[in-house]
Amino acid sequence: MATATGKIETKDSLVSLLEENSEKLLTCVHCGLCLPACPTYRELGNENDSPRGRIYLMRAVVEGKVGLGESFINHIDLCLGCRACESVCPSGVPYGHLLESARAEVSRAKADRGSVSERILRLFLNQVFTRPRLLRAGMALTRLLRDSGLARLALESSLVTGRLRFALALLLASRTPIRRRGERRPVEAHSDDALRVACLRGCVMDGLFKEANLATERVLDRNGCKVVEAIDQACCGALHSHAGQIEQARSLARKNIDAFQKSDCDRVIVNAAGCGAAMKEYAALLSDDPEYRESAREFSSKVRDISEFLMELGVEPPAGRLSRRVAYDAPCHLIHAQRIAHAPIDLLRAVPGLEIVPLAGYESCCGGAGIYNLQHQELSGAILSEKLDSIRAAGADTIATGNPGCIMQIG
Ligand code: SF4
Ligand code: SF4
Repeated sequence: MATATGKIETKDSLVSLLEENSEKLLTCVHCGLCLPACPTYRELGNENDSPRGRIYLMRAVVEGKVGLGESFINHIDLCLGCRACESVCPSGVPYGHLLESARAEVSRAKADRGSVSERILRLFLNQVFTRPRLLRAGMALTRLLRDSGLARLALESSLVTGRLRFALALLLASRTPIRRRGERRPVEAHSDDALRVACLRGCVMDGLFKEANLATERVLDRNGCKVVEAIDQACCGALHSHAGQIEQARSLARKNIDAFQKSDCDRVIVNAAGCGAAMKEYAALLSDDPEYRESAREFSSKVRDISEFLMELGVEPPAGRLSRRVAYDAPCHLIHAQRIAHAPIDLLRAVPGLEIVPLAGYESCCGGAGIYNLQHQELSGAILSEKLDSIRAAGADTIATGNPGCIMQIG
């Protein structure tokens, strides 16, 4: 809600964030080092679509110099949230947190204006992604569409066009090359002092990449960990945070903290970079919640990306051999948000037979960015085409990455 002066008074507002982070935020020295790292600036060449420009706009809104008008909404909307700017910023500006707060304001402003797309997005995020049974049913139908051949048929016909056509292509790209080995993971006998690990199932991972989840558990099991279930776990809330639905994100975070606490695990293992980044930030998300502040901090300290965890543990190389030329494309939420650059490559190097080839721009966003590719098809496509050019030049027969959205976008 904005006052007559344009100041914003809500709890999740840019004003409160600015106050909490004033030292860091005000250290944006406008150096512009982040500009070449920003995919939207590289594509559009507009200062307002650069990190520096967006920070400037946010501060202008907070200071009441500009309102939450179309221009502000568009420039914030066009941000991928890839956080490449954070990795190169010498002043440590917490751009990701700023963006989430700005998006909360943008989401409110759009809802106030009766935006239909905002209503649909909120409906999905708040009524489907927060209801595990409904979400599972939706994912089962989506799998049926994918695996029955209907999606392929629809894509090959000229009846489906635009966003729906692109959504079907993304869905088909989620088919897994991992051979089905049954629903249950083999449970090896472990010593009493084996590390107890619980995996996040994830919404998209559980719905469309279940084989990868089962493979993750088998690898953990084989590496001497005792895999335990966090039974009542929920969506990690990443999509909600990115869409400015901060209260829903907090509510999901509390559910997950309770569920993983009940499992009595030593580590929370995540194989989707976007989810891992969100869960590592529960401590910040719930820092104002007196009941959950401490448990959120403890929870976040236990979260590990699967590659990070296996390299920390000292991975036992697989017995088999895989003769492939592999290029690694880093998910933004692994390399920029979690600052994990080497572990995935080291892990691939541990697989006998793999030849790792370099991929130019491997640290740059593929344009997927959650549902950005459906919301901003043209710009996302332009960013993707830069990525595909690099992939072709790398000469790999396999692209490895660590996030379902990237797999679908590149695939
Ligand atoms: S965000 Fe960081 S890198 Fe970008 S202009 Fe500000 S200080 Fe420089
Ligand atoms: S998050 Fe990515 S797209 Fe957004 S300003 Fe930073 S570098 Fe640019």
